[in-house]
Amino acid sequence: MGHAQRLKERDSRIRESIRAKLQTARRNTGIDVKIKPVHVMIQEGMLDDERIAILEGASEMIRLTGEGIDLADLGVWRQGEYVNSDGSLEPYKSVNWYVQRGRERSIRNSQLNADAMLSALEHEPWKNSEKGGKAHYDILAVFDDMYAGGSLFVIGYGRPGVGAVISINRFKGLNKKQRIECIKTGTMHELGHAFGLVPDSRTEDFEYSLGKHCTNKCVMRRGINVPRDWVRMSEDRLKYGALCERCADDLKSYFG
Ligand SMILES: [Zn+2]
Ligand SMILES: [Zn+2]
Repeated sequence: MGHAQRLKERDSRIRESIRAKLQTARRNTGIDVKIKPVHVMIQEGMLDDERIAILEGASEMIRLTGEGIDLADLGVWRQGEYVNSDGSLEPYKSVNWYVQRGRERSIRNSQLNADAMLSALEHEPWKNSEKGGKAHYDILAVFDDMYAGGSLFVIGYGRPGVGAVISINRFKGLNKKQRIECIKTGTMHELGHAFGLVPDSRTEDFEYSLGKHCTNKCVMRRGINVPRDWVRMSEDRLKYGALCERCADDLKSYFG
């Protein structure tokens, strides 16, 4: 066997071992498991009608999957002794900690870092079977404003297999009906991302703009102009239904 051949074999062995480790990690954090419950948490101080809109949005998206996915309302979740004796928050033990994480990792004064919160949810021990956790999706809804990367702000940020963080901040100027419908649409949209929409396999009716989005009359459209685009998407949802045919099919194939 020549030198080049030996190097090539060594490379492929290394690649294979990295792939195996990554797969184990993904299995342990439950990211590859698709049918698992959705846990909804909210920042303390959110209004009742807002919390209900988030739960209704999540429940409607779950219904559209056609799968038996459970929805758990964890509210302002706190686990056991979540505050240390010095007043600091114990990591991963309360909504307060996840929000604090978003604030600590933020480089902007009045905005939470959406990516930091979603990553904390992705790597929390509660999802890890090796640490006694159970696979689930997380939705964390806040009323503080959020940003991700270089964006001015984001309404939400979802990750396939993991869940989503949602901010209702930018809807606060709307009248009550519009505000509630936009929160519902936003929740459906972000949970749609967590359920794999819009998939890499889609070759029509999509655009790359703030991630891959649908271009049909559908809650999986991008919503750049806020709140105007979200008001329109909500009106379309009430008139034509939440998902276009293509997204409805893609949603089913994600679980199939
Ligand atoms: Zn989106
Ligand atoms: Zn669509």
